[in-house]
Amino acid sequence: MPKYVYDFIEGDRSRADLLGGKGANLAEMTRLGLPVPPGFTVSTDACRAFLAAGSPPAGLFEEVTAHLRQVEAKLNRWLGDPHDPLLLAVRSGGRYSMPGMMETILDIGLNDATVGGLAARLGDERFAWDSYRRLIQMFGRTVYGVPTDEFERELAALRATAGAGGPNAGQLRDLVETYKKIFLRHVGHDFPQAPHEQLFLAVRAVFESWNSERARLYRRQEHIPDDLGTAVNVMAMVFGNLGPDSGTGVAFTRDPATGAPGVYGDYLADAQGEDVVAGIRNTVPLPELERLDPVSFHRLLEIMTTLERHYRDLCDIEFTIERGKLWMLQTRVGKRTAAAAFVIAGQLVDEGLITLDEALLRVTGGQLAQLMFPAFDPAAAPAPLAAGVGASPGAAVGRVVFDSAAAAAATDPVILVRRETNPDDLPGMIAAQGVLTSRGGKTSHAAVVARGMGRTCVCGADALDIDPDRGEFTVGDRVVRAGDVISIDGTTGRIYPGEVPVQPSPVARYLAGELSPEADPLVAAVHRLLGHADQVRKLGVRANADTPDDARRAHRFGATGIGLCRTEHMFLGERRELVERLILADGPDELTAALDALLPLQRADFVGILAAMNGLPVTIRLLDPPLHEFLPPLAELTARVARAEALGRDPGRDATLLAAVRRMHEANPMLGLRGVRLGLVVPGLFAMQVRAVAEAAAQRIRAGGDPRPEIMVPLVGDVRELAAVRDEAERVLATVDGAPEIPIGTMIEVPRAALTAGEIAAEAHFFSFGTNDLTQTAWAFSRDDVEGSFFSTYLERGIFPVSPFETIDARGVGRLIRLAVAEGRAARPELTIGVCGEHGGDPDSVAFFAEAGLDYVSCSPYRVPIARLAAGRAAV
Ligand code: ADP
Ligand code: MG
Ligand code: MG
Repeated sequence: MPKYVYDFIEGDRSRADLLGGKGANLAEMTRLGLPVPPGFTVSTDACRAFLAAGSPPAGLFEEVTAHLRQVEAKLNRWLGDPHDPLLLAVRSGGRYSMPGMMETILDIGLNDATVGGLAARLGDERFAWDSYRRLIQMFGRTVYGVPTDEFERELAALRATAGAGGPNAGQLRDLVETYKKIFLRHVGHDFPQAPHEQLFLAVRAVFESWNSERARLYRRQEHIPDDLGTAVNVMAMVFGNLGPDSGTGVAFTRDPATGAPGVYGDYLADAQGEDVVAGIRNTVPLPELERLDPVSFHRLLEIMTTLERHYRDLCDIEFTIERGKLWMLQTRVGKRTAAAAFVIAGQLVDEGLITLDEALLRVTGGQLAQLMFPAFDPAAAPAPLAAGVGASPGAAVGRVVFDSAAAAAATDPVILVRRETNPDDLPGMIAAQGVLTSRGGKTSHAAVVARGMGRTCVCGADALDIDPDRGEFTVGDRVVRAGDVISIDGTTGRIYPGEVPVQPSPVARYLAGELSPEADPLVAAVHRLLGHADQVRKLGVRANADTPDDARRAHRFGATGIGLCRTEHMFLGERRELVERLILADGPDELTAALDALLPLQRADFVGILAAMNGLPVTIRLLDPPLHEFLPPLAELTARVARAEALGRDPGRDATLLAAVRRMHEANPMLGLRGVRLGLVVPGLFAMQVRAVAEAAAQRIRAGGDPRPEIMVPLVGDVRELAAVRDEAERVLATVDGAPEIPIGTMIEVPRAALTAGEIAAEAHFFSFGTNDLTQTAWAFSRDDVEGSFFSTYLERGIFPVSPFETIDARGVGRLIRLAVAEGRAARPELTIGVCGEHGGDPDSVAFFAEAGLDYVSCSPYRVPIARLAAGRAAV
């Protein structure tokens, strides 16, 4: 027969899977000799068995009864004894805390017979009847779904007539009779008088509360699996509502908002726990307890110290004082803000409780990311207009614009406001300070793209009625027009009218080198932990940067090189016309002329970047996107040509362009003529780029610099593609005087490359996983098409725990990576291997890359500190 029930003295905190968090910690406190009322835990195994079968597993209640006897013996008080009854609390508690989501029933064991015994033992008849009515109410609601309102209405009516001292015992006894009638009317039978029946029904109800609507919803939001089940803790009641020398409270061993040491919490005299939640009376700050009950207060401080030293972390605590005797009802390692996480980790190192390695594990890359965003000054914020989903943190202020072209053209800060966004909005999103949508959630296009770019985003603000044609949106009767200034908070989702002042985050200022680490305790803690991460990590951190400015920023943020310098950005803007000449070239002469015109421009770009990253590797990727991306869109050209013809004018160059666009049209550009394929069919294109790199490096050397360029070939699927490009590149390199050795490597971003990595390594000095394309090609979906369509369904249904574009799909895409690492290194042991997809800045993905044995990750500049921290965490 399986064991389902564990006395508090049997368990410990390592068994939270089985006993739930609350049960495991009650057991731990019991072991520590802290004053915990005796009790036992019915395991999550029992819950899972119950939920699977729809009825309690055989023998469960016998086992519960046996454990109950031990509690009774310990206290010398029996459940149902009319002279001196034991009362029980029946409390839910799963593996992960789900605050307020499931049920707790207090005062189990009271009935018409025991209520008198309780009154006699505690000498308080009023209290006993009040407890009885609490039981009927909680039990009725939890076990049978009797609406709380009905009880509350009667209670409120009684309180209104009772006068200053509150209802007396007789009135409460009458109230119990009324409660019983309410119970009978809703349930169809009398309130169960048998205490053991009450207990078993309560345990069942707690099991069932695992599947309540709100518990399910909460789990989905928090990514807690649905099949864990809850444990049930059954323990002796203690009473905080026995007069002024009793009470109940919560405490934190440090300030969970800032991490500052001190005494934090709230206390309510003459009350039970649920009164605090109900907010019937105002709590007092915990330090007040020192005045009310100095003995209990100092005992509590002692216990808090014990718990902190034992858990070696911030703990939060629920306690109750029964007539001057302190009881511990709950503890756990407490939740805290990102700032407090860093500060506390540093303090615990200073106090000798944890090592620096452990401290690294107490903070996350996600928390560091939060600390880098500027924030609105709360004191200066007006009432918000509305709130949506805080999808990408940050505080953005700007003029409202309703279309992306306007946003892209704007020279001052703008907020792009759309019902929803699509890939066409990208230029506007890039240009805007922030993005606000009225539709879609955390996985909408706007949210995902904005997070990827580090752009502030509030989405799904459905109170907004957006009318782009009229150039306005309304919230209720307020109208906001294009050009009006608004402020959006990507953390809270709030939307404010006007400009709310922002405070640059001290952590961001420190990382940018504008603030010294001693400036404040938070910055000091970040400095210390990042420094330690740098010391222990084995993974290098480079940045994706296309301009000298980005390169310099990345360097300040701690990047030790550039892992991806895209060259396509260098083909935009004023250079578009040169690219058009290249595409339209008729014959080798025109082609050569077009390339010759581009060469000096490319060379100058590379000189700038190599200078900014002097002495550090700069991986330059040869041109990747399909060429038609550099031409005007088909619709625009068609319209221009049609207009010219209608006016009887010669469309001239537009007609040629239109023909080219039509010729080059691709149904699936992502899978078309791009990357290395382009280099092989457009003669001279890659050669020009290679020459530009080599000449730039030579120029830097002549200027006394130390350039370390690397040339990277995109989208290779077969070694022969790479070999052909490499041959050509080496021929070019040989002709450039004074050029350094330039390694030539490849991206691994299509499955075939990963599968033939051993062959490819023979021709490659390095590999760099392009995990964006590798994810797209491994899954056979295009990011632009899927994120706005079925991704939210997949996330809701749990098919994706998280978007595979956010965190690397370790089981599938990750397997291709592992394979390529193994075969690549087998073929060429000195092969350098990195990753340059957006995953390189995602903490969970960084942990995977570290484990897979990569040499470095490369990510956007502002993600560099996050990757450094994550890489450090992965190494301890
Ligand atoms: P939650 O998980 O929602 O915090 P709990 O199981 O902690 O629910 O119970 C809620 C409150 O019930 C506690 O804060 C405490 O005040 C009260 N409570 C729980 N156990 C006991 C007990 N043994 N004696 C008296 N009050 C209790
Ligand atoms: Mg609790
Ligand atoms: Mg790619």
